[in-house]
Amino acid sequence: MTISGEVLKYDLDNESYEFLNWMEEDRQRYGEVSLRRMIGGIGFAFEEFLADQPCTDPSRKFVVNTGFLTGLPRDGVPSGCTRTYISFNAPLKEKNGRYGIGYAAAGGLCGPHIKSCGVDGVILEGKFKSPVGVMLDASGKDREVELIDLDPESTTIETVNLCHDKGFKGSINSGAAGFHGVRFASVHVSYMPDDHVRAAARGGPGMALAGMNVKAIAFSGTRDRYPAPSSDDAGFKEWIKTINRELASGSGTEKYKRYGTWGGNWAFLVPLGALPAENFRNLNPEDAYKLDPEYLKENGWSISRKGCACPIMCWKIPKDPSGKQLWKMDYENVDLLGPNCGIYDPYTVSRAIQICDLYGIDAMSAGGVIAWYFEHNERQGKKPTFGDKEAQLELLEKIAKREGEGKILSEGVRKASEKLGDTDIAMQVKGLEGAGYPFWSNLGYAFALRGACHTSLGTYSVGLTNPEGVASSEWWADQIVGAIPTSMICQMNGACYFTRKVLIPELPKLIDNLLGVKADEDAIERSAFQSYIIARMIDNINGFDSGDDNLPERAFRRTTTPELLEDTKSLVYEQLMFNDEGKVTEETLDRYGLDHLSRFLP
Ligand code: SF4
Repeated sequence: MTISGEVLKYDLDNESYEFLNWMEEDRQRYGEVSLRRMIGGIGFAFEEFLADQPCTDPSRKFVVNTGFLTGLPRDGVPSGCTRTYISFNAPLKEKNGRYGIGYAAAGGLCGPHIKSCGVDGVILEGKFKSPVGVMLDASGKDREVELIDLDPESTTIETVNLCHDKGFKGSINSGAAGFHGVRFASVHVSYMPDDHVRAAARGGPGMALAGMNVKAIAFSGTRDRYPAPSSDDAGFKEWIKTINRELASGSGTEKYKRYGTWGGNWAFLVPLGALPAENFRNLNPEDAYKLDPEYLKENGWSISRKGCACPIMCWKIPKDPSGKQLWKMDYENVDLLGPNCGIYDPYTVSRAIQICDLYGIDAMSAGGVIAWYFEHNERQGKKPTFGDKEAQLELLEKIAKREGEGKILSEGVRKASEKLGDTDIAMQVKGLEGAGYPFWSNLGYAFALRGACHTSLGTYSVGLTNPEGVASSEWWADQIVGAIPTSMICQMNGACYFTRKVLIPELPKLIDNLLGVKADEDAIERSAFQSYIIARMIDNINGFDSGDDNLPERAFRRTTTPELLEDTKSLVYEQLMFNDEGKVTEETLDRYGLDHLSRFLP
């Protein structure tokens, strides 16, 4: 099977480690290994957090792991499946000194290296006394883990390069921002040396990891340790090739191949009057065309494609007419650091994204915080405000270093607005700054585990494309509950979110041949719901309830009203068998086959 059934557990307090056979432990504890844990990602990790709640310190436990599909085509899995998952108690998701569950994921190439060490992931616990790298060396006969001193101030790319030079080709690391205490610090997943790092960003994993004094976790393995697929059936191998051809040239991934998220969403959102600008108050900015890749190409720019060992190659790297190459641009970062801050200059936006990547800051949250600050200043008659390019780049540096006004902004938009005023325009849910879609057209934000995150509960476009449904609570409840399985399974299986249309329908066959387990669509869907329910339990234990399933004031426009949200809440809770306070109940656990976790109910 394409999982090893082992994890590395490292106790930083005592500087000791063991390789745990988690599958055997599960068998002894529960009599079986659940499909959810075998699929992996958050399906495996969330349960690891249950026993340690409530959480008053997000830097006590950190899980890095993979899914059953994580690997390269040479390993017998489909292409586009290099995901590394990060689970943690989220610094941004704080309520009365307690922290809800967080997770993040990234492509890059670290995931296959983790599995080449003969483990499905790493569980870190405790804190070390000084900044270190946790180096798992499985390149020889024995597997060993060493702690090495690392400079907390080095950039994310410098850290990837340093690990690579030492023979650890797969790594994740926290930038300097995490060590400075930026609440929305990201972790970065290695791709290739001297190249773009992939961000696992949302919720503050970089601060959680840095708080443990871990700068990097790095992996050096061999292909022999990569777990082999259960079946070596020739017909299955041929079928995988057809799947890879579909990923490379089929319609299910066309948008990402041709336009990437940047061009694809510009083409989708601008005609709908749904491109967030000026802290989400303007959805139809007249200068939007200046950042449209098609417009740039007409004016002599070129935009090349690149990808993480994946034929979709959704990364878009622009070059200006003089041949100067800019930093990689994805839709969310371009919109939130661009139009949402009133900025339409590709050089500034690209530089802003680069600063975030090098310091290890979530570029989406950074864009949300600065946009709020610009509007807050405008209300006060102060500067800087929307469109100030130099101020934006300076603010990013100050946030990363927690200097000047950057100190308060580094707390995230919710806390900054609670201190400085103007909470009504703080565009966040559960502390997380919003993605680059209008808030009014996505009631799902209120129920998404991470907060205002578009992939956390994938209802971000349905409100824009279904004008006949958006005013109905029944319609919204069905959309929201219906989006849970796909949204969760994409954070479990190891495949990129952008492969979902091709790979999710094929999961029963993939699970059968790669894991040697028979699982129909219902069983897979149930596993996905289980992940959502366990996360919700963790949040409940930490004090999150129906009052936190909310939207910011600016979301209430057009058909979206507080009454519509309340009605939708009741219906969603009814479908998931939560109580009126939005809490998981015995009935919920019974319905989703999680009775064995009832002792953790708050
Ligand atoms: S679709 Fe894009 S993000 Fe996903 S694996 Fe391929 S290149 Fe990476």
